[in-house]
Parts: sequence; structure tokens; C-alpha cells
Amino acid sequence: MTTYKNTLEFAKKLDSEDELSSYRKRFHIPKDTKGNELIYLTGNSLGLQPKSTKEYINQELEDWANLGVEGHTEAKNPWLPYHEFLTESMAKIVGAKPLEVVVMNTLTTNLHLMMVSFYKPTKKRYKILIEADAFPSDKYAVESQLRHHGYDDKEGLILWKAREGEELANYEDLEQILDEQGDEIALIMIGGVNYYTGQYFDLKRITELGHNNGCVVGFDCAHGAGNVELNLHDSGADFAVWCTYKYLNSGPGSLGGCFVHERHAYDKTLNRFTGWWSHNKKTRFNMRHEFDVLPGAEGWQLSNPPILSMAAIRASLDIFNEVGIENLTNKSKILTGYFEFLINELNNKNIKIITPSNPEERGCQLSIQVKNADKALHNKLMEAGVITDWREPDVIRCAPVPLYSSFEDVYKMVERLKKLL
Ligand SMILES: *Cc1c(COP(=O)(O)O)cnc(C)c1O
Repeated sequence: MTTYKNTLEFAKKLDSEDELSSYRKRFHIPKDTKGNELIYLTGNSLGLQPKSTKEYINQELEDWANLGVEGHTEAKNPWLPYHEFLTESMAKIVGAKPLEVVVMNTLTTNLHLMMVSFYKPTKKRYKILIEADAFPSDKYAVESQLRHHGYDDKEGLILWKAREGEELANYEDLEQILDEQGDEIALIMIGGVNYYTGQYFDLKRITELGHNNGCVVGFDCAHGAGNVELNLHDSGADFAVWCTYKYLNSGPGSLGGCFVHERHAYDKTLNRFTGWWSHNKKTRFNMRHEFDVLPGAEGWQLSNPPILSMAAIRASLDIFNEVGIENLTNKSKILTGYFEFLINELNNKNIKIITPSNPEERGCQLSIQVKNADKALHNKLMEAGVITDWREPDVIRCAPVPLYSSFEDVYKMVERLKKLL
């Protein structure tokens, strides 16, 4: 591991040695009113725009202008099979087979569609287990599924909590919950990388634990996709969902991704909500056929998809394809390691990083707890040209994104934070 130094020269040296440093130029970096580039550490919330996105979207706008409905088959990138152009690259990013992956809908919608198929409560086994500080939308979604099936959403929801005085969830506690209540749990649904603490869970371990207890296991990988190597196929998870507007840089509200493990690919008995896009491509337009479900994740699509949003996703995936998720996570470990080193150098007893220190148990995000601070600190950082994310009561989340953040960025961020403390 690199021996870091707390100097601007050293940060610049790391940038000069970084083989991915040129990718920064391919993104629009937000600027202040004087035209200075801001230090953008919120790619975990909304990723920056690749400069190529405009071209990809313009291509579809032009084809629509020139071809109208014929664009479905005659566009440079025909719209009928358009989602297929995304599948292979997306599968690589999340470590899955193309059959297991589809881009469709938005994240919470996909989570519900997955639960329609994979949350199958019975009288004895109907509970859902989530992590205690799950993303609110995930919690609301599972609670509404419980109610939808006629269960009480408090009684039916089991929370995997961190211990008193600790921030991170502990696997022994999960084992204990499963030992005691495993036969009542129908579904385990965990945020693969927790949005608040940045903890990257061991998906395989959780899946094995769940499966050994007869539970279905799914993950929300909104904070994992494009950030860590997810290896979804090898994890054995039954399903996973994620969005593309965070680390995958595809624009606000862009479409989500969905993974269904190969072992379910040809299972026609799984209950699901369907539409014409989950129907056999060969007979889709005959309009009068008996429903004939597509194999794999594609068999969960409902509608013909929004091409403009998919064009933005293609622009981003082409960059990921070029870089390779492995190179990206390698840089990420050094960059976030440097950030961690600099924060620790502050030697301030009010500051604590709650994200795991083991690089294998996190992505690029560090969640920094600042005791006795309030949102004013976040606002002052903003005035100092550093965009971070504030979470009540006292946590600043910062994500140096390896595609466009520099070592100099994190050095300057910590210098500015030091002045404010
Ligand atoms: C960002 C995020 C969401 C947001 O859901 P949308 O349906 O895209 O609005 C949900 N869950 C998690 C874990 C997230 O990180």
C-alpha cells in the first residue's frame, strides 16, 4: 500500500501517476460564479454529466426528427431493441451474465416488481428483514408490500441494527436474528452498500445465510453499481436493483437496472406483473397472442422504454467499458485511502469516520461524523467551493469518484475543512 504524505505536492504527484486522470476532462465539472471548478464529492447522489452524453441524445433526437415512427427499426441505433445495447456493459459492471440483467423503469419501481415475484409470504413465513438505516424509499417499499399482503408493517418488519454505541451492522447479529427467527422470514432485502455509512456488505455471505434459512435474498445496489465490484452472479442473490444516476452518471431520474439470478431465468411459474415488453419479441406485435414470457431479466419489462434516457446511459456505459470496473475500483481504493489518511491527519477528536476502514468493506464514500456540528458546517464547505452531502444529525458524506475526482480535490477539501473546524 502507498505511503501517503500530507502535502499538496504529494497529491499532485498521485494525480500525475494516475492512469485514469485524463477521464476527468470528459466530464462537465460544476463551477462557482467566478468560473472556478467546484470540488464535487456528491457523485453518490447525482453523478456528473459526461461531455459525450449530449451527442448520444442528439443522435436519437435527430433520428426521431427525420424518421418519426420508422426510427423503431431505421434509426442508427434502432429503438425496438435499444435496451439490448446496454445489457452487456451493464452486466459487466455488476458482475452478472447478460441474461440476468435488464435496464428498465426506475429503482423503487423495480424493487416492487421484484417483490411481486420474490416476496411470497406464507402464514408462517411472511416477515421481511432489512438493515436498520436502510434508504427511506426501500423501507417504505417493503412496508407497503407487507401491508399489501395484509400484514402489519411493524410486526412484519425485522431490522438488522448496529449495536448500541456502534454505527456498523455486525454479521454475528444477523446470524443470531436468523437463528431465532429465520423460519419466519420470507425475504431479506439489504442495501448492498449502505447509503448512510458507506458499508459494503458481503453479499455472498448474506445470501448464503439467508438461503440456509430458507429466505429469498435481494439487494438494492444503488450505492454499489459503478462504485464497487458487485459480482452479483457469484453472490447467488435472487435479485438486485439499482439506479443509474448516482455512480453511473446517467442524469437525474434516469432508468434503473435489475438483476434476476440465472436460476430463475426460465421459471415460468414465478408470479410477476407483465406487459408487452416482457412478451416474446417475435410475436410481440401480433397483438393477439397468449402471453409468452421472455427468459431472463428481460421477462420483467413492462413498457417500451424511454430512448432518450437510455441514450444517456449508453454514453456513460461506453466510458465504463473503456475504463473497466476493475481499474476503476483499484484507483478508488487509493483515492479514498488518501482521503481517509488526510482526515485522520486532522487529529481532531470530534471527527470520526464511520465508514469501515477496510477497503474491501467500502466503496469510494466516506461518511464523516463531526460531533457538535450542524448543517452550518456543510453550508460553509459549500461556500468554500466543496459540495458534500449532509445527513442529520452530524454526518457529512463525501464520495471522491475515481472517474472524475482528483487527489488534489481531496487534499483541498480536507484543507478547507480544517480551516472551518
Ligand atoms: C438513491 C436510492 C433510492 C432512490 O430511489 P428512486 O426510486 O430512484 O427514487 C432508493 N434506494 C436506495 C438504496 C438509494 O440509494
